[in-house]
Amino acid sequence: MTTNIILLGPPGAGKGTQARKLVEERGMVQLSTGDMLREAQASGSEMGKKVAAVMAAGQLVTDEIVIGLIREKLEQGSEGGFIFDGFPRTLAQADALGDLLDGMGAKLDAVIEMQVDDEALVSRITARSTCGSCGEVYNDNTKPIPADGKCTNCGGTEFKRRADDNEDSLRQRLMEYYKKTSPLIGYYYAKGNLSSVNGLGEIDAVQAEIAKILG
Ligand code: ADP
Ligand code: ZN
Repeated sequence: MTTNIILLGPPGAGKGTQARKLVEERGMVQLSTGDMLREAQASGSEMGKKVAAVMAAGQLVTDEIVIGLIREKLEQGSEGGFIFDGFPRTLAQADALGDLLDGMGAKLDAVIEMQVDDEALVSRITARSTCGSCGEVYNDNTKPIPADGKCTNCGGTEFKRRADDNEDSLRQRLMEYYKKTSPLIGYYYAKGNLSSVNGLGEIDAVQAEIAKILG
């Protein structure tokens, strides 16, 4: 079955973590524009160089760039459907996604808003690191990197912290979220496909709430 969903919520809400679960369980394809932009940076491409400073400062890159990235991935198709993670982030991106899906004869099945409070976001993000090989997410307080230094998921031994996971960039990312992305909650409510989950719960509990929505 093909299911296309958006995970919507502020930085640190747990969108990436839940997207990874959905990939494992339902064979969906995760489209994270943040990951794509970080890959572009790592590859040293012109576009990657152009967006590096914008991302480090916690600002949004242009609609044109991220819409282009998404368009390319949609063309590759996915039998299980797509999980949009960190996209759309502006009303223009939301309109563009609607047009792209229409053009493919596809639709959005659900937009899942992950609700969390701002204090929790700051502490989650400033304590965050990920496995350099598989992307498993760790947290200094709640899920520390194992004492043997090996990733529990893949055994990798390199862990990374994102350049924008510091308090200043995070405050800017939150401001961008409230100014430009949070209007999408109303947008999708009006379209009739908004659902909300409590993003403060345990990972498994959030996963169960999402499963219930997707049926
Ligand atoms: P988070 O949700 O934790 O802030 P992401 O990995 O989704 O992180 O995004 C990191 C950065 O990448 C953003 O702060 C922004 O600079 C850029 N970015 C990612 N997705 C988009 C998008 N859809 N539109 C504009 N900029 C984006
Ligand atoms: Zn790993």
